[in-house]
Amino acid sequence: MKLLQDRIRRDGVIKSGNVLKVDSFLNHQMDIELLNEVGKEFKRIFEGYPINKILTIEASGIGIACITAQYFKVPVVFAKKAQSINIDGAVYSAKIESFTHKKTYDVIVSKKFISPEDRILIIDDFLANGCALAGLIDIVRSAGAAVEGIGIVIEKGFQSGGELIRNMGVRLESLAIVESMNAENGTIEFRE
Ligand code: 5GP
Repeated sequence: MKLLQDRIRRDGVIKSGNVLKVDSFLNHQMDIELLNEVGKEFKRIFEGYPINKILTIEASGIGIACITAQYFKVPVVFAKKAQSINIDGAVYSAKIESFTHKKTYDVIVSKKFISPEDRILIIDDFLANGCALAGLIDIVRSAGAAVEGIGIVIEKGFQSGGELIRNMGVRLESLAIVESMNAENGTIEFRE
């Protein structure tokens, strides 16, 4: 998605540890016009898929998922980060290792909000090593529901998540795939 690539080049900041900061337009301040284009693009890509629900993870995925959901006219469920102490039989849970904070936490979704007839589109802001997505896929499958597809705004193609998730046989579409980024001179290359 050209508009997104241009915006990442213009406003993205490359940090150490393979972190790309896009908090001026995606996950702190949010450019709603851009997110509307993101939502439309996901709708175009997954047109004809029988999606009845969008699943994302708090916090950064929520805004993107909500805007996307307006094009699909379906509800959004977000996985919550939880203290393990709260986990009981009423929730599906998965362990996720945070890429940006380097700690492991549990995420939960109430069993009330995913059921076997659900056909789910998973949405998130970033894909790095794929741990967050693997956890969300696990939750959907534990509920007996189906993952119809995954929409990611920015995939870092030089990290392992893309291959891991595509090898699980799920349709994964990323609107921008960063092939390489150089913290020293600030250059970013995209996969075309
Ligand atoms: P993964 O589980 O694929 O390793 O990491 C995905 C999660 O980590 C995303 O939900 C996102 O919040 C965060 N993340 C991973 N890489 C980056 C990055 O380069 N920049 C930002 N802002 N978040 C990232």
